[in-house]
Amino acid sequence: MDLKKYIKDIPDFPEPGVLFRDVTPLLADKDAYQESIRLLSDFAKEKKVDLVVGPEARGFLFGCPVALALNCGFVPVRKPGKLPREVVSQSYDLEYGSNEIQMHSDSIQPGQNVLIVDDLLATGGTVDAAVSLIEKMGGNVVGIAFLIELEALKGRELLKDYDVYSVLKY
Ligand code: 5GP
Repeated sequence: MDLKKYIKDIPDFPEPGVLFRDVTPLLADKDAYQESIRLLSDFAKEKKVDLVVGPEARGFLFGCPVALALNCGFVPVRKPGKLPREVVSQSYDLEYGSNEIQMHSDSIQPGQNVLIVDDLLATGGTVDAAVSLIEKMGGNVVGIAFLIELEALKGRELLKDYDVYSVLKY
């Protein structure tokens, strides 16, 4: 199945010069969505995953069904101010400025095997920050799976110590 058919390229979104890969047509097609979840789950099925971690918001759309397919739980990574209990935070640099992500500080138990799932790997900054939080809590990152990898941005180099899989490469 040619899943790239279901990714729409949107020039100049969210700002001029950016080519945005829109995954909503894939989500709306039951066969393309199911095939994507199957491929992401297959990558991790021998890894004894205890928890899937997914960054807000599109990481939820792929991470939650993967967690169900692997018969494990799901933990959200969120923007500041969204989680109601004690959090751990990590900031990371963007081209201009910086971003911050948070997780509940008791969301990973020491020794748990964690799979990170997100829709897209660009610079890798978001997932690299999530790795820091997971490891701070004592989790083992056993794999990182993306629907899409933008190879030119070299996110894979930032994540070189980890087993990284992507379904579609651009
Ligand atoms: P990174 O931290 O790797 O530079 O950026 C990846 C994050 O930004 C992901 O959470 C992803 O959802 C979002 N992102 C960046 N560019 C795109 C894009 O072109 N399409 C989609 N769907 N998400 C993007």
